[in-house]
Amino acid sequence: MLGAEPGGGIPAVRRKIEDDYDALVTEGLGNADLIAVYAGSCDENDGMHFLAPDFLYLELIDPISGETLDWEDGAEGELVATHLDRECCPLVRFCTGDRIRVSMSPCGCGRTGPRWTCVGRTDEMLIVRGVNVWPSAVSDVISDLRPRTTGAVQILLEEPGSAVEPPLRLQAEFGPEATDLDRLKDEKEVESQVHGRC
Ligand SMILES: [Zn+2]
Repeated sequence: MLGAEPGGGIPAVRRKIEDDYDALVTEGLGNADLIAVYAGSCDENDGMHFLAPDFLYLELIDPISGETLDWEDGAEGELVATHLDRECCPLVRFCTGDRIRVSMSPCGCGRTGPRWTCVGRTDEMLIVRGVNVWPSAVSDVISDLRPRTTGAVQILLEEPGSAVEPPLRLQAEFGPEATDLDRLKDEKEVESQVHGRC
């Protein structure tokens, strides 16, 4: 069971760990200020179920406008939490910084209620020509190209802040089966995949 960083929620990273360890990889989400773990994925691995509705009241907000969003399939926003049952230092409308994508359909495991995937931290999001780009999505693309890559990638930013003047510069490590680095880099591999999926 993985947590703390979005790696367990990145499909290609999860597959790599599952292959290497021959184990089912699941993911949990929590927060030291709220509860250690208040959401977790089941064996279906189709998002994390909300596990603590008696303890936390969760809202979904647009992190830019602060507007509350409806819990519906495909909704994406920042998780905001309020303690319902805590005597010491209860938090009210605490912004977790976790950006999630919601799924409301019943899970194959039989559980109902909201579940979600964490797409990244709100302050990690980059904006390239008006398009939101998540480092976790870039990592998924590069990991998917294993063994021509090792999966390791860095996003190289020219200056601080979320707005990026194109092109977005990446430094990815090539892997043991990379034979043609120019081809790997060019539009048929890394570049086209990042353009298409991020
Ligand atoms: Zn489930």
